[in-house]
Amino acid sequence: MHPDKENKKQILDMKTEKANSYPNQQNNTPVWKKIIVKSHLPEKLSPLREISKNLWWVWNTEARELFSFIDNETWEACDHNPVVLLDQVSYKRFKELEKDSGFISRMDKVYGDFRQYLEERKNLGSPQIAYFSMEYGLHDSLKIYSGGLGMLAGDYLKEASDMKVNMVGVGLLYRYGYFKQALNLHGEQMANYEFQNFSKIPVNPVLNENNEFVKISIDYPGRQLFAKIWQVNIGSVKLLLLDADLPENQEGDRSVTHHLYGGNNENRLKQEMLLGIGGIKALNALGYNSEIYHCNEGHAAFIGLERVSSIIEKYKLNFSEAKEVVRASTIFTTHTPVPAGHDSFHDDLFKYYMEGYYNKTGLSWEEFTLLGKATPEEDHFNMSYLACNLSQGINGVSKLHGDVSKTVLKPLYPGFLEEELEIGYVTNGVHYSTWTAQEWKNIHKEYFGPEFPQTQLDFDVWDKIYRVPDEKIWEIRKTLRTRLINYIKERFSDSWIKRNENPQLVTEVLDKLDPNALTIGFARRFATYKRGYLLFRNLERLSKIVNNPEKPVQFIFAGKAHPADKAGQELIKHIVEISKRPEFRGKILFVQNYDINLAKMLLQGVDVWLNTPTRPLEASGTSGQKGVMNGTLHFSVLDGWWVEGYQENAGWALPAERAYDVQDFQDELDAQTIYGIFEDEITRIFYDRNEEDIPVEWIDYIKNTIAQVAPKFTTGRMMQDYHDRYYKPQLTRATSINNENFKWAKEMAAWKQKVSTVWDSIEIKSSDTSNGIKENMKVGQEYPFRVEIDLKGLLSNEVGLEMIITENGTEDPPRIVETFNFEVEECNGSVCCFKLNFHPVHPGSFNYGLRLYPKNEGLPHKQDFNYVKWL
Ligand SMILES: *Cc1c(COP(=O)(O)O)cnc(C)c1O
Repeated sequence: MHPDKENKKQILDMKTEKANSYPNQQNNTPVWKKIIVKSHLPEKLSPLREISKNLWWVWNTEARELFSFIDNETWEACDHNPVVLLDQVSYKRFKELEKDSGFISRMDKVYGDFRQYLEERKNLGSPQIAYFSMEYGLHDSLKIYSGGLGMLAGDYLKEASDMKVNMVGVGLLYRYGYFKQALNLHGEQMANYEFQNFSKIPVNPVLNENNEFVKISIDYPGRQLFAKIWQVNIGSVKLLLLDADLPENQEGDRSVTHHLYGGNNENRLKQEMLLGIGGIKALNALGYNSEIYHCNEGHAAFIGLERVSSIIEKYKLNFSEAKEVVRASTIFTTHTPVPAGHDSFHDDLFKYYMEGYYNKTGLSWEEFTLLGKATPEEDHFNMSYLACNLSQGINGVSKLHGDVSKTVLKPLYPGFLEEELEIGYVTNGVHYSTWTAQEWKNIHKEYFGPEFPQTQLDFDVWDKIYRVPDEKIWEIRKTLRTRLINYIKERFSDSWIKRNENPQLVTEVLDKLDPNALTIGFARRFATYKRGYLLFRNLERLSKIVNNPEKPVQFIFAGKAHPADKAGQELIKHIVEISKRPEFRGKILFVQNYDINLAKMLLQGVDVWLNTPTRPLEASGTSGQKGVMNGTLHFSVLDGWWVEGYQENAGWALPAERAYDVQDFQDELDAQTIYGIFEDEITRIFYDRNEEDIPVEWIDYIKNTIAQVAPKFTTGRMMQDYHDRYYKPQLTRATSINNENFKWAKEMAAWKQKVSTVWDSIEIKSSDTSNGIKENMKVGQEYPFRVEIDLKGLLSNEVGLEMIITENGTEDPPRIVETFNFEVEECNGSVCCFKLNFHPVHPGSFNYGLRLYPKNEGLPHKQDFNYVKWL
């Protein structure tokens, strides 16, 4: 139904309340009946409606300024939601605007830009990609995100639009979404879930030819779950959102899509079934024919199962054949650096919900559950394992996290050494136009060229920041800091007054906040590993830093803790308490309800962004990247993206090496280092001014940051990397696999079947070391080595035999020094002789091992067919 109709229906449903409840009484009390008067947009202003329904305005400053001009007060009151704005502005005001030729020409300009944007952009020439994520951070009015994972997905879709990538997003539309954070007088977090009226947010119903919602359904035990489809327009990219809050669903099922990361594990499983299985059904229902499927985190891993099932049904393939098709076209991005962070469901729960599903795959129940396990003994079904099993491409979200992911996922590939695993990385980035302040955008256009930001992938362009005069840069920094301080004063005093904070305290804090002081920001989820407490280990030293009369410093904190995370909430409380102590008033501030708008203000306005995670638990982190676009210097542990981003004289880093096993000692050391860097470097450079009161060295740091760090961390670069490393090569292979009625998929599956049938019976006949490897060898000598193997019917070119040499050290896992391939010397029937003339080149002590593996040119890499035999 169209949202307007939905509204009317609500009005009809609402029983008009009558006050005459006592039959004998006269009608001598007021009688109220409800009416709703909807705003009416004059025809001439209708482009506004169209613009409001496409999130393009999120990253277009002129469009937002246009909305703000219509009615600034309403614009602020509705948290910058143009759908609500157009609903609430008076007809009189619209009539005025209609006659305001200045406004009309501004509107026409914005509308023209919008139409032009939709038509004319450079085109990456990508395949059609379906992108799945549990959350998307696009705008605060769309409460379908909680933190970094969602922000990344939202930025990525915007970039897909900018680069004209043929992408469709799939997610869930939550009735309450994630919570708004309020703090009470004691600094305790209260989580408020607000009901979202879907007609008041920038989502559009997806209707069929009868003007009814398009719906899909999936099977739950003994019943079906129905969901309707909404659509968000993000430039030229569509995001489809499933909503199960429907009367035809069982009462308990209507709430499946109520909360993001709410409820128990059972609800999580129900949500993930809807996202994965329902998501594929939604794409099918709307006629999408995606070529590549991108699974953002394990939550959506059921997409692989649903695709396998529907391919089996539609094309009459068997499971192994369908799996080839699905794997070739799927990429799985993992975001979690610890095993416990990966979603998994206990066998009993999983069986209850999925027992009705597995026979669609043609597997036995045992085979089916093994898709989510590393060994049959495990009693949980792991969504990341499922995603790995059904994806050809697997990646982490920074270089370091790519390596960490190998450790996390290696139980799936016991025959391989960790470093060999085909788990790559694409470092996360942020959407330039969303996060960069308009003042900077203007400078960039002026100096980087009018084509910017379309030319952002040419890193040399960014070097032109060195041509910008220092005064200009300093002017922007001051403007942005002042804007932030004013914004915080407003947001802060409102919330403090609401919770009855002592007026004297409020005044003192507001007075002390200083738009000229060195301002440090720290805002993120309050999860323990992010170590928000680190700065507070030595309060005396901290007090000296912030209260230095010549070089004052102020810290602004923000962030939510998950409602179930008591430790995170305690930490927030602790910081709030400290911020009220006399010596920290107006020096340390906790601003409540970290959201996209606050993030933007903070990242553009603070001078330094502080990040103190326990390495290597920050998979990437993106907030600091938003800062560097704006000349906000980054100070962080060398973790996640900062390992790749840090450069001397372009920010600060805490050393990478962990000195202590005991976390408390490590924390103490890190805290000392942080204080030291603030005392000796950051404050010194910031307050070291020339005659014009300009901190010349600081500006150098800013220029270095913008020239050398920022360009590498845009979603533009990220999209290009995904394209080069995954989408494009996978499309080539997937196309071949599907051609001629899946000829290659069938051959590949049949070959794998053949190999796996005989693999265990393959027999080593002899291993001749008489002239070959000895314990003592010399560099420069040749040592021939022969192995005779009965391949049990496999051809000699269907297997490879290799020698792997590793360091003989204490390192676990051992590092590979070199790998040598054996050659086939001769075959007698099925018994083949493999030969290697081994030439040791490095002196030292090593280990070696021999490994037999199935060989086929059609495999993208060895690990694609997870069979190896160590001799
Ligand atoms: C960028 C952003 C995040 C993620 O920041 P991290 O550095 O990855 O912790 C979370 N919330 C909001 C509102 C953001 O804008």
